[in-house]
Amino acid sequence: MPYPLSPEIRALQSAVRRWVDEDLIPWEVHAEMNNGEVPADVLAMQKKGARDLGLNSMDAPKELGGGGASMLLQAVVQEQTGRVTNALGWRFSNVQRWMTDACSAHQIETWVKPLIADTRHECYAITEAGAGSDVDAIEATARRDGDSYILNGEKWHVTSGNLADVIVFQGKIADGANAGAHCLFFVDAGTPGIEHVRTPAYSHTFAAHHPIYRFNDVRVPVANRIGAEGDGMGFTHDWFRFERLMIGARCCGAAERLIDEAIAFAKQRTLFGEKLADKQAVQFMLADSLTELWAARLMVYQTAAAIDAGEDVKISHAQSSMVKLYASEMANRVADRAVQIFGGRGYMRENVAERFYRELRVERIWEGASEIQRMIIANGLMKRGQSSLVG
Ligand SMILES: Cc1cc2nc3c(=O)[nH]c(=O)nc-3n(C[C@H](O)[C@H](O)[C@H](O)COP(=O)(O)OP(=O)(O)OC[C@H]3O[C@@H](n4cnc5c(N)ncnc54)[C@H](O)[C@@H]3O)c2cc1C
Repeated sequence: MPYPLSPEIRALQSAVRRWVDEDLIPWEVHAEMNNGEVPADVLAMQKKGARDLGLNSMDAPKELGGGGASMLLQAVVQEQTGRVTNALGWRFSNVQRWMTDACSAHQIETWVKPLIADTRHECYAITEAGAGSDVDAIEATARRDGDSYILNGEKWHVTSGNLADVIVFQGKIADGANAGAHCLFFVDAGTPGIEHVRTPAYSHTFAAHHPIYRFNDVRVPVANRIGAEGDGMGFTHDWFRFERLMIGARCCGAAERLIDEAIAFAKQRTLFGEKLADKQAVQFMLADSLTELWAARLMVYQTAAAIDAGEDVKISHAQSSMVKLYASEMANRVADRAVQIFGGRGYMRENVAERFYRELRVERIWEGASEIQRMIIANGLMKRGQSSLVG
């Protein structure tokens, strides 16, 4: 029996699946061969599809133009978008509830509503050369100067920096009563003092790049500060929790696609007089993949449903880490097996297994690497005990 989902969730799941199959997957190889880009009219068509399905900022409240959706519904949707490579699933805005709760009326009008509507685009500048896993080690500063803050620091791996017109910058308050406290700021792209250092090449082929920016005495009004001085780390944790769960969901989608594609190939490939799919070694790889996918999917759905039911945030923090740890490592194992099943074809960039093999690797690194998830889970286990985390 499939996981019990409401008819409404099943209906959107089917509709998103159709959009992914018909409007996104056919453009994967084109994107792979063209630096992640698709023609402008195709991009517009894909974004319209996402908009028509109501996928823009499903986490944000309806009154601001978001979807006001449950976590379970969002996980089911993101699982489907995870079935496509080259980040073609990133065709909708993704403003989260914490941001709409934290922002002032001015910020809601200037940034949040346009971000939700997908008419403006943001990126997040937290990581630095010397601070990734250890976010508290960031050296970026925000120094109060009258009605402004002066921002300084160098930010790495700023995903979508090339597409964004506003940067969410994390720095530490430089002096005063809250010295050392973390703070987030909206910084409009083009603000004097933002220096594009360089755009390194990465393993995947995405239209969204990950540039390095240096902030040299960038002046922003106090009105650009998100929440109070010292709220920054809490917001970043909200963001991490949400994204870790959604990474888990997308990894399930990727694994499902890989299993489907590997089976389709193995059923038509003849070797030594019989189908590859009839070889027990191949069947065992597929059996392990399916079993692990099921476990990961149940973890995703259960964690999402628990959040919807009002789970204690400390518990869902550890559970989201378990989801991300297990699902991302599961998807990497599945991709490795799929490449093996495809043989030499699995090493060709036009093959979905090859692309996922590269693309899924980062799921074990960003939004907290696997080692960080293990630290969070172990911490939760020691503090709260086994039964509170896994029943
Ligand atoms: C493609 C990509 C996109 C990204 N996008 C963004 C973005 O948009 N915005 C942003 O701010 N950041 C972004 N990041 C940064 C990402 O979040 C960091 O790379 C990640 O948190 C790891 O930090 P690090 O690279 O500095 O590695 P480090 O923190 O230096 O870690 C190196 C290794 O040590 C391991 N490690 C850490 N602690 C321990 C421990 N206690 N015991 C054992 N091992 C440990 C880590 O798990 C990792 O394997 C992105 C990264 C990539 C690759």
